[in-house]
Amino acid sequence: MTPVVEVANLKKHFPLNSSLFARHAAMVKAVDGVSFAISPGETLCLVGESGCGKSTVGKLLLRLIEPTEGAIRLHGEDITHLSVGDMRPHRKRMQMVFQDPYASLNPRLAAGRIVSEPLENYSDISPKERETRVAELFEKVGLRADAMKRYPFEFSGGQRQRLGIARALALNPAVIIADEPVSALDVSVQAQVLNLMMDLQEELGLAYLFVSHDLAVVEHIGHRVAVMYLGKIVELAAKEALFETPLHPYTQALMAAAPIPDPHMTRQRIVLQGDVPSPINPPPGCAFHTRCPFAFERCRIETPALKPAADGRHVACHLVD
Ligand code: SF4
Repeated sequence: MTPVVEVANLKKHFPLNSSLFARHAAMVKAVDGVSFAISPGETLCLVGESGCGKSTVGKLLLRLIEPTEGAIRLHGEDITHLSVGDMRPHRKRMQMVFQDPYASLNPRLAAGRIVSEPLENYSDISPKERETRVAELFEKVGLRADAMKRYPFEFSGGQRQRLGIARALALNPAVIIADEPVSALDVSVQAQVLNLMMDLQEELGLAYLFVSHDLAVVEHIGHRVAVMYLGKIVELAAKEALFETPLHPYTQALMAAAPIPDPHMTRQRIVLQGDVPSPINPPPGCAFHTRCPFAFERCRIETPALKPAADGRHVACHLVD
């Protein structure tokens, strides 16, 4: 099956020094050689500490920022270097759900108009058909029809996120990039929004790239999980395998730091030393070696490649060779 979306060796390096006389501008390697594919009806979660590059991957995918290197394919078609005009038909197929639903909704527009906007901009259906489609979308996300006349400030956080999802669905996308879509919501509301997203995925065959730092949320919604550290994927695995037996020491440390809902369960504790190193000048060899409790000589010299390992997963660690 052709993946809905596929990225190969994607890189985004931001120059730091814009001085005309600087011979070699320092680079922030926000994303440094990331590859993955997402199938229809699948959720790939990107996890990692803040600053690991996971949100930048989402922006690259949507072509909101230009990649430094690598390729982005949508339904097998290379869209990496398409002009704004040539990207237009593809934009409909890729939509975004944002972290802060309030900030992402125009406060001066009524809810019905907010959901109708993408249809006005990207489709040529009649006003009557638009009205019908908007009513359908409100129903799909569990909002009452009379909510169309209300303004964003009149909705609760969860309802606003439902509105954001309705707007994202308006053009029948194939893939939705959701960047921390429930992290601004109360815990009690988070599950409702996640369940809605899962129901919509099943009904519409949507592919999700789900960016999150919250492992409980990832465990709820993900099919596969890619763990990022300093711009690279260090482990990519099916959710069950990753949560049962994380292989990369960084994944193990993230799991150890996450709260466990069952008081009878224990986990091996791996406490990370120090902060995430700067992406301007990442450590040589394995970028995690400055914090890894298992680091040995080879780790300081040789960068581990992301290689196939047990259970169909991929791991970048010399211990998993
Ligand atoms: Fe730790 Fe070495 Fe594996 Fe990196 S390659 S995660 S430093 S053991």
